Amino acid sequence: MTIFKKKSSRRIQYTQSLLQYCEQRDKAKADVQLHYTTKHSKISFTCHCGNKHVKQFQTIYKYGGMNCKKCTTKEKTRKTLNKMESNGFKRVTKDNMIQFFKDHDITVTKINDITISNIDLDIPNTIKRMDIIESKCNHCSSVFTKLVRRLLITKEAKCYKCSRNEINNTNEPTN
Ligand SMILES: [Zn+2]
Ligand SMILES: [Zn+2]
Repeated sequence: MTIFKKKSSRRIQYTQSLLQYCEQRDKAKADVQLHYTTKHSKISFTCHCGNKHVKQFQTIYKYGGMNCKKCTTKEKTRKTLNKMESNGFKRVTKDNMIQFFKDHDITVTKINDITISNIDLDIPNTIKRMDIIESKCNHCSSVFTKLVRRLLITKEAKCYKCSRNEINNTNEPTN
């Protein structure tokens, strides 16, 4: 007697309409119309950002979506950052931190006592919420320090003075 494993979900049909569904879901466009598709079909497509990429149908549908490499990485980072945020930033990985600095245009000059000249190489493997980041202000170029925790919340490279000025400018009417 053969015992079959019970399948909890319906078998997915990798058809043209599923491909169209993926196109709409991911705001991308398949480059060629294939007459017959299976989950292993290689689909070449144009990502919503304009980049071209090739992926297996199954990967598109179930995992990364119709996104190019760059956008997949970006999306992953965004998800991790959101997760970190809901965890109260208890865990910050090096890669996420680097991506975060790049995404928010933050020029880090020091972390605690470590001088950062190359962001990809010099960032320590473990970063804690209470570590101190030294960075250049994007507005006045002066150097300021902030806790990692604070930086993750404000998401901007702004010194204390420029942050205050902005608050004053929006609160007080100009004479
Ligand atoms: Zn893309
Ligand atoms: Zn400033």
